[in-house]
Amino acid sequence: MSLNEEPWGLSGVRVVLVEPSHPGNVGAVARAMKTMAVRDLVLVNPARYPSAEATARASGADDILAAAPVVETVDEALAGCIFVMGTTARRRHLPWPVVDAAGGAERLLKERVQGPVALLFGREHSGLTNEEVERCNALVRIPANPAYSSLNLAAAAQILCYELYRQSGEGEPLADAGQAPRVEATVDEVSGMLEHLRRVATAVEFLDPQSPRLLMRRLGRLFNRARLERTEVQILRGLLAAVERKLRPGAAVDGQSGDSAGPYEGNGP
Ligand code: SAH
Repeated sequence: MSLNEEPWGLSGVRVVLVEPSHPGNVGAVARAMKTMAVRDLVLVNPARYPSAEATARASGADDILAAAPVVETVDEALAGCIFVMGTTARRRHLPWPVVDAAGGAERLLKERVQGPVALLFGREHSGLTNEEVERCNALVRIPANPAYSSLNLAAAAQILCYELYRQSGEGEPLADAGQAPRVEATVDEVSGMLEHLRRVATAVEFLDPQSPRLLMRRLGRLFNRARLERTEVQILRGLLAAVERKLRPGAAVDGQSGDSAGPYEGNGP
């Protein structure tokens, strides 16, 4: 089967549904796939299909359904694939490790470089047979409540397709592309600001140099955790300089970056 020629989409990852009994689930899987830019769906012996319910549940992803081949056997569905990842809700006694959703997607994306790969989903009531599991090169189990670990078929597909999408880098970068890039403060800018803060804290007698305790270390940790931007350091230094000016009217400020800033007007990013 050929991949369709959409401008979007993760090529070479084939989602295979083995004997789905509910057409609604088939539609919901198509929708789950399309939201995560996974295009290729193959249906093995689906019950009550094609169906208006499947199309309705697919919503705007009916193109995925329309392009999905319907085949009789798992063999036909896997034809041409170089790697098969099975999905399982149950713990099975198997000689190979079962990976979690993130690990499963990682492996699929790695194998995909060599050729088409398949992600095999089982029947709503009984999952995959042992024989089908033995056809798989690896198994993925989405970690879930041990007391109730069986997800709805489309929910399982959504989670795995999400991991594929996230890890493939298909998605938009999460940061708004229109935003000005962050300019991180350098280590010396942060330490300069901390030193300034220490001077002001001492001047206002918040910090006792005879008994400094852990104050500056704690503040240092706070600011390092916050990953300050350069403009934020400048704001803080401007604020500290303003405090100093109030403390010593007419006294010269020390001329470091930000010290000569006037009142904060909220400019900049
Ligand atoms: N009673 C079946 C449950 C099947 S759920 C069983 O015990 O196997 C239908 C399908 O959804 C499963 O075959 C599998 O493809 C997928 N699925 C459901 N829960 C899952 C989970 N926790 N991890 C991975 N796949 C899961």
